[in-house]
Amino acid sequence: MENLVIIGTGCAGYTAAIYAARANLAPLILSGTQPGGQLTTTTEVENYPGFPDGIMGPELMMRMQQQGEKFGARTDYASVTKIEPADGHFILHTDAAPVEARTVIIATGAAPRYLDLEGEKALIGHGLTSCATCDGAFYRDVPVCVVGGGDSACEEASFLTKFASKVYLIHRRDELRASKIMADRALKNPKIEPIWNSGIAAYLTDEKGEVRAVTLKDTNTGAESELEVKCVFVAIGHVPNTQFLKGLIDLDANGYVLQQPGSTATNVAGIFAAGDVADHVYRQAVTAAGDGCAAALDAERHLAALGE
Ligand code: NAP
Repeated sequence: MENLVIIGTGCAGYTAAIYAARANLAPLILSGTQPGGQLTTTTEVENYPGFPDGIMGPELMMRMQQQGEKFGARTDYASVTKIEPADGHFILHTDAAPVEARTVIIATGAAPRYLDLEGEKALIGHGLTSCATCDGAFYRDVPVCVVGGGDSACEEASFLTKFASKVYLIHRRDELRASKIMADRALKNPKIEPIWNSGIAAYLTDEKGEVRAVTLKDTNTGAESELEVKCVFVAIGHVPNTQFLKGLIDLDANGYVLQQPGSTATNVAGIFAAGDVADHVYRQAVTAAGDGCAAALDAERHLAALGE
C-alpha cells in the first residue's frame, strides 16, 4: 500500500513529489505517456523564477525529477486507466500492474487540441503537428503555418522562422490573444505573415499523404482560398487529461478537475488535483509547481488526520 501516488510528471507532479518526499511519504510517481509533461516539448523557459538566463524545458523537468528522487520519490513509467475507491483507499488500474494507495494526487495536465477536421488524426506526423520544438527542424526552407493567436502560437511561429522559408500565422480574429511581448516579437519578424480573420477548413495532401496545402476560410465572408504549406502547427489550446476520471470525481463542463475552494482537494476525500488538469486560467509552469506543492501539503495533512 502506497501512502501517496502522484499521477503525472509535469511541474505539478514533480513539485508534489519533492514536497511529499521531504515529508518522508516516499511517494510513487506514475509518469503517463509523456514523461516530463508539456515543458518537454518546449525550448527555452524564460519565466521560471531563479533562472535569469532561461533554462531549457526538458532540463528543468529532469532537474525536478532528480530533486524528488534525491529525497526518496520513485518514478514508474505506467499510465493510469481507472481509479477504483476501495474501503478507505484506492486501487489504481494501470497499463502495467495495479497500485494501491491511501492518497492520490492527479497531475495529469492537458493535451494539445486539434481542429477536429476530417482525416486530421491520420495526418499527425505527416505535415500536421502541435509541437514546433519537436518537428520544426523537419521543415527547412519551405512555407509552414501556425494556427492560433495565443502565446503558444506566437512562440511557435517565432521559433519556426529558424527553419521555414515563411511562417503564416493564421488567426480567427483580427487581434492576437498573446501577451504584448510575444505578439510584438512575432509580428516584427519579417518571416512571419499574419493571416487575420481566417481558419483552416481542410487539409490538402499530396500523393504520399503528406500535407501540401490548406483550404483557408475567411471567418467574416466565408470565402475560401488555398494556401501552400508543407506543415500545419496547431496551437489552439489544450484539453485536460481527465478521461480516466469520468464518473469518479467532479469535473467542469470542459473536463477540468474541480478543486474545493481554497484547497487542492477534489470532491472525493483522499484525491487531490494540481496543475493544468485543474487550471484553465493561469496554466504556467510556476503556477502548476505551486499547486503541486499545495497538493502535497494537503495530502500530508489528510494522511496525518487518518493517523497514517
Ligand atoms: P490560449 O491562450 O488559450 O490561446 C489559444 C488560441 O487559439 C486563441 O488565440 C484562440 O482564439 C485560438 N483558438 C482556440 N480554439 C480555436 C479553434 N477551434 N480554431 C482556431 N483558433 C482557435 O492558448 P495558448 O496559446 O496555448 O496559451 C495557454 C497558456 O499558456 C496561456 O496562459 C499562455 O500565456 C501560456 N503560455 C505562455 C508562454 C510563455 O510565456 N513563454 C508560452 C506559451 C503559452 P481566440 O483568441 O479567438 O480565442
